[in-house]
Amino acid sequence: MARYTGPVCRLCRREGTKLFLKGPKCFTDKCPIEKRNFAPGQHGRDRKAKIVGYGLQLREKQKAKRIYFTLEGQFREYYEKASRRQGVTGELLLQQLECRLDNVAFRIGLATSRRQARQVVRHGHVEVNGRKVNIPSFQVKVGDEIAVREGSKKLVLLEVARDFASGQTAVNWLEIDRDNLKAKVLSLPKREDVNLPVNEQLIVELYSK
Ligand code: SF4
Repeated sequence: MARYTGPVCRLCRREGTKLFLKGPKCFTDKCPIEKRNFAPGQHGRDRKAKIVGYGLQLREKQKAKRIYFTLEGQFREYYEKASRRQGVTGELLLQQLECRLDNVAFRIGLATSRRQARQVVRHGHVEVNGRKVNIPSFQVKVGDEIAVREGSKKLVLLEVARDFASGQTAVNWLEIDRDNLKAKVLSLPKREDVNLPVNEQLIVELYSK
């Protein structure tokens, strides 16, 4: 399963905003966005022109893709599926991204970032309805119960993540039990549940060209 393995702070600097890919470090003054908020590379400082039109749509797509730590092919598939379904395409796109198992693991507090949550799922620490699922892109459904597997509950990584998550805002569509590291999906996420700085309409405009 392919994934991005390069330096992640570059991605935030390219988008000019925090994408929170490194957990606790993102909230400290060691975050490179605090010190060098310009695009990476030799000419990063020179990119001062205001981005409009296609450039703006492209940046919005890249930002959403990077926040959820997915690659282009999979992200495009989410768009294609959303555009075939009834409803607002942009919202359906975000809904699929939110319903990824790695994102849910992050929301529950099993990791300090979506990137780390992907690893937690991949390493088989998570179960859905009592069965191990190690596919980060697995889509959760209403009524699903997501939990840490019994043998993984003592992992230091999870202890750190739980402390970190206690300071984060919970989402309405999940009934989260942080003490027992589990959650139940109460409903599918709506647009207002996705508290991220993404303009999904620009992404739809980009892909529908
Ligand atoms: Fe982005 Fe976090 Fe790195 Fe800051 S520390 S640039 S928010 S990944």
